[in-house]
Amino acid sequence: MSEPILSVRQAIKTYGDFRALDAVNLDIREGEFLTLLGPSGSGKSTLLSAIAGFTALDSGVVHAKGDDITRLPPEKRGLAMVFQGYALFPTMSVAENVGYPLRVRKWSKAAIRERVTECLDLVQMGQFADRMPQQLSGGQQQRIALARALSFKPDVLLLDEPLSALDKQLRADLQWELKALHERLGVTFIYVTHDQDEALSMSDRIVILKDGAIQQEGAPNELYDWPRTRFVANFLGKSNCIEARMTGRDGDHLIAEAAGHRFAVHAGTGVAETGKGCLALRPERIRLGLPGDEPFTGRVKQISYLGERCQVLVDHDVLGEVLVSQPTWHSGVRPEPRMDVSFGWDAKACVALVDA
Ligand code: ADP
Repeated sequence: MSEPILSVRQAIKTYGDFRALDAVNLDIREGEFLTLLGPSGSGKSTLLSAIAGFTALDSGVVHAKGDDITRLPPEKRGLAMVFQGYALFPTMSVAENVGYPLRVRKWSKAAIRERVTECLDLVQMGQFADRMPQQLSGGQQQRIALARALSFKPDVLLLDEPLSALDKQLRADLQWELKALHERLGVTFIYVTHDQDEALSMSDRIVILKDGAIQQEGAPNELYDWPRTRFVANFLGKSNCIEARMTGRDGDHLIAEAAGHRFAVHAGTGVAETGKGCLALRPERIRLGLPGDEPFTGRVKQISYLGERCQVLVDHDVLGEVLVSQPTWHSGVRPEPRMDVSFGWDAKACVALVDA
């Protein structure tokens, strides 16, 4: 594999007694859309800010294309940053805002004019060049902030929750636009968000942080399908947690026992092959049937209608509450509250977790 465009080694950052970053190692590949995802306070912004050069690490190093940039000031790192607040200069026009990084870098007037036009077109804001920031909506201001960040052709664009101040529909639109922009420009994006759907829909790779440490990283579908820990299984989508007894390995899968049934489960590296275990089971992987159709039997406790999907909470004597999610438009069983139903899943639909 080619050398990473950025790499972070053993990054530690403390605030008093508190470890905001706990020995983080991360490689960022050229051209990828990498997302740092985690709950509030997990260290995402601190990590991004350490990469950008705004936060000094206690120890650890940051490399850019092999060079140690740990002590380099932000403006010498070839990186650009977009924040949640749009941070446009209020007394400068849109064009002046976008051209600002170029004036600092002493570009000629003609080159600035040409590049500003190019960048405004890139974010579809060409006709707003002479407006002042306060004459723009939030979404438009964020587009300008993006154009300004891209103006000097940075190698890497760092984005810290850039859409979180916008309403839902606008967010969704800008998510598409950002993704398209990433594909068109080929610039490396490092994106911080606490929004799981945003991370899943936009990223090539997601890094999940908790308490200043990386829990798991991988492509969106990998993380969703094969979470390694209970935290990841629940943070990225919903999961049932099934307490089981692991009885050994059979080829590439493990055998688990729960509520009197034996079944094959998927196991990642580091999972205990025998003894008590915890299995993650996605609600949409569970089939519902009439009593007798499927191996487990329970009673419907609650139903929640979500338009395209319907969530059904089923009570089972041993497994407890099991959440099932099924498409509303289907020909299977139509659950009603207090109805007895059966449920089951395909072999390896369950994933054995490491932190059982
Ligand atoms: P996230 O971006 O995941 O929400 P942050 O990286 O902003 O998390 O913060 C991680 C932790 O470090 C939080 O608990 C936060 O309160 C703490 N922290 C961040 N910046 C400072 C600071 N300047 N002084 C003290 N604590 C801080």
